[in-house]
Amino acid sequence: MKVPFLSLERQTARYSDELRTAVERVLASGRYIGGEEVARFEDEFAAYCGVRFAVGVASGTDAITIALQALGVGPGDEVVTAANTCVPTVTGIESAGAVAVLADADRRTGTLDPETLADALTERTAAIVPVHLYGQCADLDPILALARKRGCYVVEDCAQAHGACYGGERAGSIGHAAAFSFYPTKNLGAVGDAGAVVTSDPEVAGRARLLRNYGEDRRFHHTIGGWNSRLDPIQAAILGAKLPHLDGWNERRRAIASAYDAALRHSPVEAPVDAWGSHVYHLYVVQAPDRERFRGALAERGVETDVHYPLPVHRQPVYSALGEGRDLSVSEALAERIVSIPLHAELTDDEVAWVAEGLSAA
Ligand SMILES: *Cc1c(COP(=O)(O)O)cnc(C)c1O
Repeated sequence: MKVPFLSLERQTARYSDELRTAVERVLASGRYIGGEEVARFEDEFAAYCGVRFAVGVASGTDAITIALQALGVGPGDEVVTAANTCVPTVTGIESAGAVAVLADADRRTGTLDPETLADALTERTAAIVPVHLYGQCADLDPILALARKRGCYVVEDCAQAHGACYGGERAGSIGHAAAFSFYPTKNLGAVGDAGAVVTSDPEVAGRARLLRNYGEDRRFHHTIGGWNSRLDPIQAAILGAKLPHLDGWNERRRAIASAYDAALRHSPVEAPVDAWGSHVYHLYVVQAPDRERFRGALAERGVETDVHYPLPVHRQPVYSALGEGRDLSVSEALAERIVSIPLHAELTDDEVAWVAEGLSAA
């Protein structure tokens, strides 16, 4: 059997009627920027996250930039994030004009390690961007405690964690603001680029609204410099149609993860740790001592795997300076061991069984 890593077309086909109705509604409306479709999705998504405001933007990367700028973070400031995140977290920080500083990952969960974070904070640290990597919240209590002590902000990177919780609270509702991506592969995905800033602070939400729309506060009147980074109504309509299904998809992801966990029980390959009991498995990432052999065995069964991410940020040619003088050895070690196994809500039971059998044999 062939199990591709992703099959996005299956979700589109399964919900085709709802998605087409949503897109047709936008086409018929004559309103192709902003308007009711965007406002409605923003309200529904804010309610889902347990925050007062969601501000739709053009991508998750822009959401990071705009969340930081809306908090007043910019040139001269440092922003600390995880060395093992995907590069757009750093792109978003740099676009805000701030300097990215990398801290190391926790060996078990792969999320930001609060201890190495403490070492990365300086007088210039204006914000911490913990990344809820693979679908699980970073350990936010100690991170928030450090931020309080230092007087800096916490902006959650929720691009992989729609619906995950920490201490019973939804990802995105815990820091001062949060950034979501609706890139098509994410747990809640558009059919193109899309993102959102969420926050319960009305001033931050208000500034994010200006920043996404050239800094315009009323028609042809600009109070701050900004961007063109809007969530378009077609994507908003698609996302609004998908949002009611998100919890069901996440449950399905968790059920598949337990099947994989069981298959790995006696294996030298380590299953991911669900530290807060609410991992939403954007990615199911195992740690394999002999990665090439393990991936080869799965490939022979037709099971496609991937690596997220093969290089920590500071090993990327453009970001090598970010590693100077820092101990990021856990991120480096993890990059050699991690393997992502196919896991999404549209996998069939037969495919799950096939992959699980492959995991227990590999
Ligand atoms: C996907 C992702 C982003 C970037 O989102 P885009 O919508 O592609 O700009 C940022 N951070 C993390 C952790 C991501 O997974």
